[in-house]
Amino acid sequence: MSTSGKPTGGASLELRGITKTYGRAAAVRNLDLKIEAGEFVTLLGASGSGKTTSLMMLAGFVEPTSGQVLIGGDTVTALAPAQRNLGVVFQNYALFPHLTVAQNLAFPLQMRHVGKPQIAAKVAQLLDTVQLADKGQRYPRELSGGQQQRVALARALIFDPRALLLDEPLGALDKNLREHMQHEIKALHTSLGTTMVLVTHDQEEALTLSDRIAVMHDGAIAQIGSPADLYERPVTRWVAEFVGQSNLLDGVIESIDAGRATLRLPNGTALGGACAPSLRIGERASALLRPERLALSRRGEASVAPAAGAVIDATVIDSLYLGHTVKYTVALADGQRLAVQLSNTGNASMPVAGDAVTLRTGVQSAWLMAASPAAHISSLERAA
Ligand code: ADP
Ligand code: MG
Repeated sequence: MSTSGKPTGGASLELRGITKTYGRAAAVRNLDLKIEAGEFVTLLGASGSGKTTSLMMLAGFVEPTSGQVLIGGDTVTALAPAQRNLGVVFQNYALFPHLTVAQNLAFPLQMRHVGKPQIAAKVAQLLDTVQLADKGQRYPRELSGGQQQRVALARALIFDPRALLLDEPLGALDKNLREHMQHEIKALHTSLGTTMVLVTHDQEEALTLSDRIAVMHDGAIAQIGSPADLYERPVTRWVAEFVGQSNLLDGVIESIDAGRATLRLPNGTALGGACAPSLRIGERASALLRPERLALSRRGEASVAPAAGAVIDATVIDSLYLGHTVKYTVALADGQRLAVQLSNTGNASMPVAGDAVTLRTGVQSAWLMAASPAAHISSLERAA
């Protein structure tokens, strides 16, 4: 245990200049990724973006075409999976159906020639950890999907791995169960302090669980950062559109001052906001406006907030009543549609379809970034 009281049981993991090609196609391109000991990092990306391939190169099941894999600072590129001491939960990985839960858990330890009494103690401990203490004698088919997934987690943890690698472990579960398991995985990470690497295409899962998220696109990392970094400060339009719901307005940067810039839209509106450091005056750029940061009021009626920022005329196309929030689609004068999400204040004068409205962006709500996917292009150029 560290002085902070948080266990630091994990090892650091690193992919250094890793490329994996299949024939002429690259699944992963010159990837650099360093995961600190005890960190929870998620590889987030669409199907085919190279997440599984990257994870399997860490685990040792896929051999890189070039580059190095390091665990705890040591090069392990040539080591077999069993020599790396990493727990792995594979995508769609089934338990042994003919073995009980306890036998499934014992299996990795038997492979490692651990003594019987130690195995029994360890199996009991792990069953307890995943809250299945009374299910050891059941067969997998006698368990719910979530319980089976917990057994798979326990089995991956049973030899105290230096890191746990999880490939879409919750993909097959329904929404409620998935949320429950997310809490369990988070709790395991907190209590064990093991380094964890999760692969998912579910952005909400990535945002809730991770210390850092690496957004993968086309075999490269488009951006890596904390959930707030990705949501508040995406480096490109592509990341902005992939993480969360986004409205993007294009224009030209007119002025920059101390981390803030003004974007002039084609319709003449000036949009102020915090900006990416790489932006230059005169450059084409995009403003990101998250739906929940916008305010909407019937034209002519006073708006509660935000007081400052850009004020844009719009028309409500439709509204979706969700109980706690109302989701609007509004159209600007040039026809572009924006999503706006208002919390349901119970105010009788909330706008409805057909209303002429005033949209306010507020001072803090816009984020300005390059219109071209610069970060992604540069990573591809490095690989070429
Ligand atoms: P993800 O897990 O993000 O869906 P993968 O890492 O599985 O993506 O795959 C990345 C790319 O590499 C895909 O285009 C996939 O078709 C290709 N690929 C992965 N494994 C193989 C393989 N064994 N042989 C050929 N192509 C593969
Ligand atoms: Mg995959």
